[in-house]
Amino acid sequence: LNVPDKPIVPYIEGDGIGIDITPVMKKVINAAVEKSYGGSKEIQWMEIFAGEKATKVYGADVWMPEETMQAIKDYVVSLKGPLTTPVGGGIRSLNVTLRQELDLYNCLRPIRYYDGTPSPVREPEKTDMVIFRENSEDIYAGIEWESGTPEAKKIIDFLQNEMGVTKIRFPETSGIGVKPVSKEGTERLVRKALQYAIDNDKPSMTLVHKGNIMKFTEGGFKQWGYELAKNEFGATELNGGPWLSFKNPKTGNEIIVKDVIADAFLQNILLHPEDYDVIATLNLNGDYISDALAAQVGGIGIAPGANMSDTIALFEATHGTAPPIAGLNKANPGSIILSAEMMLRHIGWVEAADLIVKALSGAIAAKKVTFDFSSQMDDATEVSCSEFGDQM
Ligand code: NAD
Repeated sequence: LNVPDKPIVPYIEGDGIGIDITPVMKKVINAAVEKSYGGSKEIQWMEIFAGEKATKVYGADVWMPEETMQAIKDYVVSLKGPLTTPVGGGIRSLNVTLRQELDLYNCLRPIRYYDGTPSPVREPEKTDMVIFRENSEDIYAGIEWESGTPEAKKIIDFLQNEMGVTKIRFPETSGIGVKPVSKEGTERLVRKALQYAIDNDKPSMTLVHKGNIMKFTEGGFKQWGYELAKNEFGATELNGGPWLSFKNPKTGNEIIVKDVIADAFLQNILLHPEDYDVIATLNLNGDYISDALAAQVGGIGIAPGANMSDTIALFEATHGTAPPIAGLNKANPGSIILSAEMMLRHIGWVEAADLIVKALSGAIAAKKVTFDFSSQMDDATEVSCSEFGDQM
């Protein structure tokens, strides 16, 4: 990326706890950048609006203004707090709108353990992974029909009478969904995952799927993923296959390309998380896996993420607006701070990003943490959202 020293970064404050965590995040990022580059670099924050705040600025029904979409496209790198999903009125989830309209096909979730973080597993420190979740296809694409509608009936009729689906019963009350998974969609995701493994000198990339059951969709994902590794990265069979390996062109180290069935993976991450480094998976699997792994290393209060296309990167806290604690200065700002840390790394400001990781580790190790952590830790002191930011 060709980044100026003082880039304009559009940001959406977010609804609910967005008003608590986003200002804290800006303060922490500004301090880290100042400390790392002594004024020669600076983020110029530009507020853009979405969600409830947009309805106040732009008018009652405008949840996602065109100007906001345009800014995210034009400025390429942006940040977002959580947004309320409008209920009723036929308005789609704002996050889904953003992903679909901007083709943000890659949902990136790093899963990293910070010493002292409360965790339900015995050896959480062995968990260090990055998940690449396909964001645009799968049953998650929302192609579905309500039971009893003429469309649902038409599809059932088509399946039974023209497609030879005779073994499955379709009782009167049956919703119907479609699961599209394409070679192109798989390839663009797996390409990103392998490139990440190369750039970050990771020893493996694992395709997580249910191809044993859903042969042409999840099985396709596995097959196309392996083929891409062979054709574009020069991977060859490891001990007769099906696993592959290739030499990292930057470091000379070996990168193993492997696969695992999703249910086995969900067991293994509890028992042997050290076996996994970079994960590439389909949309629905990715949804479950991201939250399970986030819980393993401290929960959604500290889980960062990004949604990306080939050009656009939108960094965001992975949690929602947490209405019960909104505006109370109680929320954990960790998730959005670490999302901004990912953003700094993405634009190459590695020194500032490293400083943030160090400061956050220090704050957790000192056991001065927000309520979601302090309630699960022995002899921890509860601090407010802003105090947590200040001590960093
Ligand atoms: P939520 O993530 O807001 O809350 C789930 C639980 O986690 C709650 O107990 C909450 O208090 C807690 N929590 C969340 N973030 C926290 C933080 N930073 N610090 C401490 N505790 C935190 O999920 P929800 O209650 O299902 O959804 C509330 C609203 O948010 C809904 O309108 C939903 O549609 C929306 N939502 C938005 C996004 C997004 O914008 N990315 C994601 C999920 C949900």
